[in-house]
Order: sequence, then C-alpha cells, then structure tokens
Amino acid sequence: MDKNNNKDIILDIRDLKKYFYMPKGIVVHAVEGVNLQLKRGETLGLVGESGSGKSTIAYNVIGMYEPTSGEILFDGEALNPKIRKRTLKQKGNMQIVFQDPGSSLNPRATIGKNLAFPVKLHGGLKDKNEIHDRINELLQFVGLPEEYAEKFPLSIGGGERQLVCIARALASNPELIILDEPTSALDVSIQAKVIRRLIDLQKELNLSYLFITHDLSLMRNLATKVVILYLGRVCEIADTAEFYASPLHPYTQMLLSSIPVVTEEEEKLRPVKVESRGEIPNPADMPAGCGFHTRCSRCMEICKTEHPRMREVSPGHYVCCHAVEGRIVESEKKD
Ligand code: SF4
Repeated sequence: MDKNNNKDIILDIRDLKKYFYMPKGIVVHAVEGVNLQLKRGETLGLVGESGSGKSTIAYNVIGMYEPTSGEILFDGEALNPKIRKRTLKQKGNMQIVFQDPGSSLNPRATIGKNLAFPVKLHGGLKDKNEIHDRINELLQFVGLPEEYAEKFPLSIGGGERQLVCIARALASNPELIILDEPTSALDVSIQAKVIRRLIDLQKELNLSYLFITHDLSLMRNLATKVVILYLGRVCEIADTAEFYASPLHPYTQMLLSSIPVVTEEEEKLRPVKVESRGEIPNPADMPAGCGFHTRCSRCMEICKTEHPRMREVSPGHYVCCHAVEGRIVESEKKD
C-alpha cells in the first residue's frame, strides 16, 4: 500500500476526477483534478455554489461514488474506491452527516434503536446493558438527555434530529467526519447550537472535519483552511485568517463581497464590491479556458482559451487565476 510520509495528514485527495456519463454522449465533469489535504484535528471548509462539485468530492471520499481517476488516501493508506471492498475499520474511521436529518434517520424506530445499529456493528457490543450505556454516552456527547433514546425522530425538533445524526456518526469512533451542509436546513437559532456542539466535540475527541457549505460566513470561525470550488476545480486555498484578510481570486471576492457585514472590522476586511454576475455554467457544457471567465469582471483574452495554473502566492495560499502573478501586486481591499 502507498504510504503517505506526513503523519499529520489524515485525508489526502490526489488529482481526483469524477465524470458522469449521460445519454447522447453527454459527459458531466463534476470534479476536475482536485488536490486537497486535511490535517488531523483540523477543519477543511469546502465552499462553492450548487454544481461546484463539493458534495461529489465528499461522496467519492466516503465511497458512495467511485472516482473516474485519482486517489484518496486516509491516514496514509490508499482507499479502495469501492465501498464494499473497504474494511469495516476503514468504513468506521470516516462518517458523514447529511443536510437533511429527517431523511437520515428511520422514523419508525426510536432514537435508541437508530443508534443501536452502528453501536453493535462498529463497537462489537452484544450485551444489552453495554449497548444501553453506549447509547447514553453518545446522547451525552451531543448534549441530549438520556430520555431521548425512547423518543421517535419525528417527535423532536430539526436541530435535535441533527444532533442525533451526529451521535450516530460518533458511534464508530471515527477520526474523520464529513459534514455535508449540516446546518443549512435548520433555523438560524438552532444552527448556532449545532455548530457549537461540533466545535466542542472536535476538541474533546480530536476529530477532523471536511465541512461542505455554500455559506462562507460560517467558515470564518470554524475552518482551519478554506477551499473555494468552481465548476469542479479549486480556485483558491488558504489558511482561514489569510483567506479572509487577502482573498485574491475574483470568484472568492465575488462571494465575500456578497456576505452581509455587521461590524466595522468586518467592513474593513471586505474586498471591493464585486457584483455577482450570471450563474454557474452547466458542467456538461464547460466554457473553454478559465471556467469563471463568463462571469469575471477581470476577464482577459487569455482567460477565454487557457485554463490558469494553480500558483502559491504566499506560503500555503494557492490561487488559480491568470490575473494573479506571484505575490499579489495590487491591493484588493477597500481604502
Ligand atoms: Fe477571471 Fe481570468 Fe482569473 Fe478566470 S483567469 S478568474 S477569467 S481573471
């Protein structure tokens, strides 16, 4: 097996491509050569609009999709792309929490029974009392009282249902949890509670998160590193502080300038207003050159024919844009 030398890297995605072959010869390029690394105990925020490929990347990692090409390493070991060929330990080591907690749980079974299945499967527990204790421990982890084991999923609120989904994900003692828009279906007041619990659990259990979202404002206090995706490709990657202080890709600037700001400090950090223009093109009919050129206010002739290369503009800050050369030369921020 291929071994990754860096023991800090828990997830290593190498040149991942995922194409969907449709009738009439149509090929959808959902993910086009993505390279990403997630360090142990950290949160990688994958951000993009619908159709950017962020969920497709997650489903390749978890094994719901098989990559067209490329490699996914977990803890230095290359994973078999076929989920049924992965070991129980590999399956238990990474879990996913979906956007809609309502459809993730069996509504006919109590919460206790929903949790009992992964507890028995991954924990190898057979004794009734041990299973009961483990279910209570999982509920405690997510801040729900023991009595919730007797309730049915539809008798509790959406935020609590999502906490049950997180408890179920924890049943296998995973090292990595993929969070696929885990709060976007919840009320804003409940979102904060779920996010706080996720942050606490990460510290308590040394979890690593691959956090998928279209909400950039959510990543500021949550992610260690932010990745911007557009049409299945990475546009920009940077550590969170650097990302919000010096966003360089025109698409990132467009996304950031559309976030409402509240404080003066946030206003100072906001890049010059970049109008949101048009919509993400159809991935089955990708534009030539830079995929963003049909919406970019800084588009040049070269952008229409040649896809830019990813460049490291400062340590750990990567941008894929013809307009960005070496260390950026112009101030992109407001006066
Ligand atoms: Fe805009 Fe050109 Fe940069 Fe693409 S490569 S984001 S079109 S400036």
